[in-house]
Amino acid sequence: METYLVIGGCGFLGRTIVQALLARGSPVAVFDLVQRYFDEKVQYFTGDLTDPIALGDAIKKSGATILFHTASPHYDAPVAVHYKVNVDGTKTLLEVASANGAKCLVYTSSAGLIFNSGDARDIDERVPIPENPLSSYNKTKGIAEELVLEANGKNGLLTVAIRPSGIYGPLDQQGMGPGIAKAVREGQTKVQVGSNNNLTDWTYVDNVVKAHILAADRLSECTRGIKLKREEIMSKSFRN
Ligand code: NAD
Repeated sequence: METYLVIGGCGFLGRTIVQALLARGSPVAVFDLVQRYFDEKVQYFTGDLTDPIALGDAIKKSGATILFHTASPHYDAPVAVHYKVNVDGTKTLLEVASANGAKCLVYTSSAGLIFNSGDARDIDERVPIPENPLSSYNKTKGIAEELVLEANGKNGLLTVAIRPSGIYGPLDQQGMGPGIAKAVREGQTKVQVGSNNNLTDWTYVDNVVKAHILAADRLSECTRGIKLKREEIMSKSFRN
């Protein structure tokens, strides 16, 4: 059985991944700047992603073979913090991961990194990242994604990146959820901006979690040289 370390596991998405892993009986540990949850079954490590010693220690002591990297500063954090955490932190992770026993890494990227403020209909992952990204968040998420994908197959590590669009769900403290709840509480439910034609993607957090766990399961199968059909992977991962 694999052991999982969720980096950023006290955040909205990370915590929901932890809950899903616990629900299926998988051993799980968390690495985060701050411990915000307390569960008997979860081993918590506090530290900064950019600190190779703390991070390497957490991977080794937890015995994690599969890493989920969900840590990131928010969109409106200072530019230097985006570079420090998303770029330097991801490099640090790639440097210490396999030396401490990890075999697979699932990176949470962002659909935002290909957004250049124009319409984006019917596109997929082949769309190139814009030369001048809209923000330091988008730019550094893109650099981190490239680093993660370049590391695939090197030093015994398999990697994958997932690009969610906006995520919503119960544990959201900072994103769309609290804003909508506040508007509803204040009776501001009849405001319309624009002509009601704009489309934007939002994904319920459980679906994003499912994508992460499916990706991890697939990488795990690959490390064991097992080739499964898509239907088999789906039924193995989420029987009910
Ligand atoms: P969040 O802020 O709720 O969680 C991020 C967690 O990472 C926090 O617990 C934070 O303490 C931790 N963290 C930040 N910097 C760290 C560091 N230097 N070292 C260790 N831990 C650190 O954010 P979220 O909404 O759960 O987002 C999770 C991931 O999903 C992020 O990578 C984000 O870029 C990506 N994403 C989010 C959305 C969304 O709508 N929420 C959309 C697309 C992609």
